[in-house]
Amino acid sequence: PWLVQTSDLAVTYPNGHQALYPTSLTIYPGEILVLLGASGAGKSTLLRSLNGLVRPSEGEIILSDIGRPQRDKRVLREHRRKTGMVFQQHHLIGRLTVLANVLLGRVATRGNWRSLFPWSREDKLEALAVLDRVGLVDKALVRADALSGGQQQRVGIARALIQKPRLMLADEPVASLDPVTAESVLTLLHDICKTDHLTAVVSLHQIEFAKKFADRIIGLSHGTVVFEGKPDALGDDA
Ligand code: ADP
Ligand code: ADP
Repeated sequence: PWLVQTSDLAVTYPNGHQALYPTSLTIYPGEILVLLGASGAGKSTLLRSLNGLVRPSEGEIILSDIGRPQRDKRVLREHRRKTGMVFQQHHLIGRLTVLANVLLGRVATRGNWRSLFPWSREDKLEALAVLDRVGLVDKALVRADALSGGQQQRVGIARALIQKPRLMLADEPVASLDPVTAESVLTLLHDICKTDHLTAVVSLHQIEFAKKFADRIIGLSHGTVVFEGKPDALGDDA
């Protein structure tokens, strides 16, 4: 069984820069797939094209159960609703509370944000429950910009979790954190994915983290896949 396939997916940006050369890959349910590569390798481009944040210029994305998002807007909407995104710069709204930031993850599932206000008791309880999972329920009413970088990234994970995603896309989620905090955030993300049988695609540039947290690694260089395999198959000098 597989969840997502890409068939010769390629991205050329409007300025003519080809960031991803035709790439065919399969994402399996429940796996943590790490995209490993240096800055500029095309990790973010591939990751963003997986949920339509970047428009592929060639090739196709196929979802085993719901279909082809490039061909059908309804499929794209359903796919996005079921896909959680975690960003390097977490994109929290600093002057809102942690709780409000997590609740904003609901916008992705409900579409129309006006229908969300006022927040229902059920939504608030759900937000507290996901904050509890990332160890921050005691910070629910604190302004987001009062948290440390690692805590903010945990809130970013909680905001994705409130969508009840089946696929998690994390674009360099720990690139702006110190190594110890980075490892703790990746451990949390790993444990949540395994507990929930959540499929995750995570881009990283540190080989040690890729080896520790990936079930499978895809190495990218200059927009091309240069490695695909289990962490053990990746030499220390790679
Ligand atoms: P990574 O995530 O591995 O750092 P990216 O996918 O962000 O790599 O970028 C791959 C290449 O595409 C880089 O050379 C980058 O400068 C370029 N690129 C990224 N976004 C755009 C864009 N919107 N327009 C043009 N070039 C871009
Ligand atoms: P990140 O660090 O998240 O990869 P960047 O700083 O590389 O982000 O890029 C910031 C924004 O600029 C993104 O929207 C990216 O797509 C765009 N971008 C990146 N590289 C280029 C480029 N060479 N030309 C045009 N836009 C770019």
